[in-house]
Parts: sequence; C-alpha cells; structure tokens
Amino acid sequence: MQKYDITIIGGGILGTTISYWLSTLYDLKICVVEKEHDIAMHSSTRNSGVIHYPFYLDSKRKKNFARAAFLSHDMWKILASENSIPWVQGGTIEIALDEEQHKTLEKYMVMGKENGLTEEDISILDSSELKKKEPNLSCYSGLYCTKEGSTNYGLLTKTISELSKNNGVSFLVKHNVKYVEETSKEVNLVFSDKSSLTSDFVINCAGGNSLDVAKKFRLLNGYSDLHFRGEYWVANSDIANLVKTNIYTVPRYTQFPFLDPHWIKRANGETEIGPNAVPVDSPEAYGSFITDISTALSKMTDIVTGSTKKLLLNPDFISLVSKEFLSSISKSAMVERVKKFIPAVKPENFPKRGTSGIRTPVISPEGDFVSEMIEVEGKNSFHIVNYNTPGATGAPAYSAFVVKKLQEKGILKQSKNQKESIWDFNKIIEQA
Ligand SMILES: Cc1cc2nc3c(=O)[nH]c(=O)nc-3n(C[C@H](O)[C@H](O)[C@H](O)COP(=O)(O)OP(=O)(O)OC[C@H]3O[C@@H](n4cnc5c(N)ncnc54)[C@H](O)[C@@H]3O)c2cc1C
Repeated sequence: MQKYDITIIGGGILGTTISYWLSTLYDLKICVVEKEHDIAMHSSTRNSGVIHYPFYLDSKRKKNFARAAFLSHDMWKILASENSIPWVQGGTIEIALDEEQHKTLEKYMVMGKENGLTEEDISILDSSELKKKEPNLSCYSGLYCTKEGSTNYGLLTKTISELSKNNGVSFLVKHNVKYVEETSKEVNLVFSDKSSLTSDFVINCAGGNSLDVAKKFRLLNGYSDLHFRGEYWVANSDIANLVKTNIYTVPRYTQFPFLDPHWIKRANGETEIGPNAVPVDSPEAYGSFITDISTALSKMTDIVTGSTKKLLLNPDFISLVSKEFLSSISKSAMVERVKKFIPAVKPENFPKRGTSGIRTPVISPEGDFVSEMIEVEGKNSFHIVNYNTPGATGAPAYSAFVVKKLQEKGILKQSKNQKESIWDFNKIIEQA
C-alpha cells in the first residue's frame, strides 16, 4: 500500500495551491488525489473567471474571503504574467438601479476601505459619469473598481500543479475517495476501484463534495448543502462590446449567497451573461436537473430531514429559487434581467450557452447559509468546506493561511530547507 505524509483530497484550485505551499516549505511525501482524469475539471474551471477585489465583502462576516482576495490579487498577477496566462484588468462596475440600492454602494465604499482598498481602487460614479464611460449602460449610479478583471483560473491551477510536481508532489488522478478508515496514527483512503493508500494526515479540499467527505470522517453531521447550477449565455460578437467593463448589480437578497446575473468580459475576449442559480441534485449536474433517480432521492431525503428544510419555509428563498429556475428554462427571462441595465440587449443576441458551473453553499444546523468557509479538524485530518466565491481569486493567500494554521496547531513542524518560491510565504502571513 502506498504511504504518504500528507494527502490532499481534491485537485481544484484550493488543493493545488495548498500542495504548492506544502511542497515549497517542506520535504514531505505529498500527494493530491483527484477523482477525475485531470485536475480543475469542476468549479476551478467552471466559473465566471473574475478577479475579484473585496469591496463588496463584509470585513467581519467574510473576513477570510476578503483578506485572501485582497492579498492574492498580485500573487496571481505575477504568475499569470510569467506564464502568459490572460489577465485583463478591465475593472468592474457594480451598479445601483435606484436610490435604495445606491445606499448599498455607499456601504460597499466603507467595507472596501475596511478591506484595505484605496480611493484609486474604488469610486462611486453618478449616472452621467457612467454614461460617459459606458454609453449603453443605464442605471442610477455605480461603484467602479479598477482592480477587478478576468483571467483563466483553470490555467492558473494547471500552472501551479506543474510547480508542485517539480517540488515532488504526486497527482493521483482517477482516484475517487469512497471510504475512510481512521486509526489513531493514520488514515486509510479507499478508492472506488478498491485500491487504497495510507497517509499520516489528510486535507479535505473536495469542493462541492467536501461536506460529504467531512462526513466520511464523522464531522459536521448537523450541516447540509445545496447545489446551484450557474448558467451563462455567450453574446454574439456584434453586441459583445456594447459595454466594455464587467457589470454586477446590487444583490436583491443579501441573506442568500447569490448574485443577479452579471455582464462578464471573459479573458478570452468573449462576453457572457450569467450565472443564475438553478437548484440541482449534485455538484456535477451540468446538463440536467437530476443526475439519476438515486442521487435525486438521496438529495431530497437530505433536504427534508436535514437543516435545509428550515430554508424551505422562507418565502424570500422560495421566490428567489423559482425566478432562478425560470431563467434556466427561458433564455428570455435571463436576458430580461440584464435588459434592466443594458436596455439594448435582446434574446437573439445570445445564441449559445456558455460553460455552466455549480456552487455548493452549506447550511448550518440552524438553517442559515454559512457565510465563511468552514475549517474543521479531525483526528488526523483538516477539512475546508463551503469554499465558495471568490474562492478562486483568494486561493494562493488562503492556502498560505491554512498552512500557517497547521503549523500553529503543531501538525506541521517549523519549516526548513525551503525551496525557491514564486510567492513569499512570510510576507503573506505577516499581512494576513
Ligand atoms: C458558477 C460559479 C462562478 C464563480 N465565479 C467566480 C469568480 O468569478 N471569481 C472567483 O474568485 N471565484 C468564483 N467562483 C468560486 C470558485 O470557482 C471556487 O471557490 C473555487 O474554484 C473552489 O475551488 P476548490 O478547489 O475548492 O473546488 P473544485 O474546483 O470543485 O475542486 C474540488 C476537486 O475535488 C475533487 N473531488 C471531489 N470529491 C472527491 C473525492 N471523493 N475523491 C477525489 N477527488 C474528489 C473534484 O473532482 C474537484 O476536482 C465561482 C464558482 C462557480 C461555481
């Protein structure tokens, strides 16, 4: 049986950046186990590709996400420029459609400054200033963030994985963790083909499956999750430059982790609208509403017996979900939402669907959406669950925070024989 010091479950952007830090700082036998035939096949590739800058994140409720996004910006920028990965810093305008929403933008200005942003990074523009900048945009006001833009997180993940491999990390693809056997000293992971490996320590970065994996370690039993498919439509080239900046709108329901569809300028030059948030039964139901009958039944049982059922009594939630559902079956419904701020768009301008991705927010035992990532320690394991947006942006700094935490807990010794790194671990931790 193969034996490792540390095994990371999940070859997404989080598992891969953690493997990079560990292999740079330590001489350990490390592997990343990934169930697909390649890494970054799920949300780390299937996302909006937006480089976020935390003007809209509450510095208390979303402290880790905000700090990580702030610190990671320049880290990704360096990696992208050294490896010719697209990095388009075209900015984002978060728009208010009325005076009430404008108050949210004013709050964002305060939150942005609490998160370290300066007046060069964010400013509020009124409708006439916006008309000069984006003549086809119609709104009451907007918060313009110059640091946001677009990249390709799949390529960034692949590049980091190559650096990890150079440091000696093994990436074991087609390894789907099915069962976990824990002893007092180590963990045995048993894969769906019945092969197995042993590890002194396991880090769970399994994305949309991370809660299920944590439950295999008998952790987080009172929590449940939901899966929402985000769908996009690609704009025809004749209208793609109607607006040249990413456009986001102030969310209608701030208690739920969904944003209304945006106008996204992709790093490959295309423009898309999306994502909506359509409920599906698994983190990989990209093409249909249910994966198969048994998965659908198991998810429904989970919903009616678990903490999610409290959400079903919330009329705002039900209203939001039904609107999102409508925008999945009807392109016109999705375009109608964008028309509110770019009146010139029409359904026929969006002839093809873009690549969909699935978000998996976690529900607490009290029936609320959890706002931060959840970190939980097992006997010989550490789990990161609810690692949602803007998780791709924040991955390099957040994964350094995780390594630091494992050092503080005494799970990792003080590092020595460090290898040369593209990023400075101590500098990131000093600013954490
Ligand atoms: C629609 C959408 C839009 C988004 N937009 C943005 C954005 O614009 N900007 C931004 O910063 N963030 C965005 N995000 C969030 C960001 O993409 C995620 O936070 C990030 O990709 C999560 O990375 P991860 O490594 O945790 O998960 P993943 O990329 O899902 O990786 C987890 C991996 O674990 C593997 N795995 C799961 N179970 C097992 C198992 N049992 N055994 C072995 N392997 C397993 C999976 O196959 C997968 O490869 C978006 C997300 C979505 C879904």
